[in-house]
Order: sequence, then C-alpha cells, then structure tokens
Amino acid sequence: MSFSTLSLRPEILGAITDLGYHEPTEVQSQVIPAALAGKNLIVQSNTGSGKTAAFCIPALNSIDEKKRVPQILILEPTRELASQTRDEVFNLSRHMRMGSLAVYGGSPIWKQKEGLKAGPQVIIATPGRLMDLMERGWIDLDNVTTLILDEVDQMMDMGFAPAVTEIWEGLKGLKQVLTFSATYTPAITRLVDSHMKGETESLILSKAVTVDSIDHVFMRVGIRDKYPVLKRILERFPEDKVMVFTAKKHETEELERYLYRDGHKAAYIHGDMQQRDRMRALKDFKDGVVRIFIGTDVAARGLNMNAIDLVVNYHVPEDPEAYIHRIGRTGRANASGQAVMFVAR
Ligand code: AMP
Repeated sequence: MSFSTLSLRPEILGAITDLGYHEPTEVQSQVIPAALAGKNLIVQSNTGSGKTAAFCIPALNSIDEKKRVPQILILEPTRELASQTRDEVFNLSRHMRMGSLAVYGGSPIWKQKEGLKAGPQVIIATPGRLMDLMERGWIDLDNVTTLILDEVDQMMDMGFAPAVTEIWEGLKGLKQVLTFSATYTPAITRLVDSHMKGETESLILSKAVTVDSIDHVFMRVGIRDKYPVLKRILERFPEDKVMVFTAKKHETEELERYLYRDGHKAAYIHGDMQQRDRMRALKDFKDGVVRIFIGTDVAARGLNMNAIDLVVNYHVPEDPEAYIHRIGRTGRANASGQAVMFVAR
C-alpha cells in the first residue's frame, strides 16, 4: 500500500514525503481509511507502531482551515507525549494554513491562553491542564468534532478517568472518537463503551507482545555489582545510545553522578523535575549531546525515542507491561536493539 492511494489532501501527502515516510505502517494502513470514513475506532496498538501519524493524518485531513477554532482535540497522559504529538501534528501540517497548540501542566497557563487567541484548529492536551483552561472559561471546545484519546491505559493509571469523562461529556459537537491503548482493561472498556456514539470499529493491531528484533539478555547481578557491570557494558559499547531504567527517582540522579565521576556524560529524567529540565534532558539525548539517558519508567514511559541501541533495566520492572514499554524503545521502526535486565541475586 502507498500513502498516495489514500484520499488525502495533497498538502498532507507532501508533508508525509518530506518526513520520509515511504509507506504506511500496519496501524496506519488500517486506521487511516477507517478514520477517513468517519468511523469511531477503538485501537489496540503498541508504542512505536506509527500510531501518532495514524491518528494525526486523518484528523488533519478533516480540518476546515477557514474556521480558526479548535476542531480536533488530542488527549495525552504526559507533557512529553503531548509535546511529541504536537511535533508530529506540526510536521504533518506544515503545508496547511492552520495552527496547533499543546497545553500541559508545568508551563505558564497565561502563555497557553495567549496561544489560544491565535485560533489553533488542533489542541493537544493533558487532561488536568485542559480542565483548568475549561474551568477558567479560556478555551472553547464547542467546535471540536474529533476527539483522540492516546495511551488510554496510561491515562487511567495516572488517575485521569474522571477528567477524561468530564471532557468527553462536555464536547457538544463531537462526531468521531478514536482511542489508542496498548491494553484494554475492563475499566477502560467500560469508560469507552459508555461514551461512544454511532458506528464503532475495534482494531486489534497488536497483542501486548515484544518486538522480534530485540535480543533480550538477563544478567544475575549482585546489588553491589550493578553499577560496575553497567559501567563495563557502557565501556564495551562506546558508540551505543543507551537508555537505563531505574526504579526510584533518587537513583536516576545517583547514577548520573557516578557516571559523571567515571567520565560518562548522561541525562536523566524523573517525575519531580521542572518541565524545563526534563525537556533539556530529552533534547540533549535526542541531539546526541549525551548518549546515555537515565529515567524512572513512570517519567520515561511512552517517550518517542528512536535509534536506541541498548536498554538496560537496572531493576526488574514491576509488571510485564512496564517491561514491554521499556524495551519497546529499541527495535522501533525497523531498527534492531538489545535489552539487558539486571536481576539482583
Ligand atoms: P509512534 O508509534 O507514533 O511513536 O511512531 C514511532 C516512530 O515511527 C516515529 O518516530 C515516527 O516518526 C515513525 N514513523 C511513523 N510512521 C512512519 C512511516 N509510515 N514510515 C516510517 N516511519 C514512520
């Protein structure tokens, strides 16, 4: 299949070419035609499957550029995901005459109020900040026709169910809803089913399985030996982009200090950091200023990072899903990768 066989606006096809996407991924080839046909969709798909473009492309295709009001609302669980999705929207709409805005906590709300005055057609938001804007009467969502809920399982984990419900119920002009999640628990299914109106299709595009191109290695390591073993691995693969997952916030900082002492520059991210510092850490890693990125899995989950060669699980994750999310970072979009897990004796 080729993107040109989908009935898309030429401006969007041009942007897809600019991005170097030659053909749709599996998720895209299923989601785009169904969404263009106006159906509601409940999609089960893994991270790294190209799902962001899968929902952005049909959503952008439906925009009325002359109406300078929000028409598409995308909800994301975290600010990083909101910001990454906004980047994808921005890139895909570069040849259109329209605007998009990401609104999330940790950034000044007055700035977002100013941004809204420009009349963006696409809003990408975290539920908490969006509720805040709605309660202040600073955002008008009456013209929103498409609602996209991304990473629903993570939004539920983070306690956003009431906010998502309230936002969904408040959208009076809604015509289409697309939901994306790696898993659909009974709670998610209940929430989604009770709000969906009209024809709805379920697309199961992945079981929660890991990607084939990743080699998994388990290492039995004594607690005191973890750091020296990590150091040896880093020295053995001096060119590799490495992501290290720790269980606790203080460990990210501690590891960064040890590594710095030993001549390895690393960036880290955890939930108690200022947004500015989190963004800087991400940028340093993405730009290659540092090749080592340390994070707690809560803070780093779902981040869109390509070309990671090695994932080190400094701890055994608490549940299998967290493990898949972690290693889902290597082996994305045709790249192969390795995952090492330290199992303490
Ligand atoms: P996502 O699952 O949305 O996080 O996407 C994972 C990565 O795949 C992103 O870096 C996208 O830029 C990339 N991507 C999305 N669609 C395509 C495509 N059709 N061809 C190649 N890469 C893609």
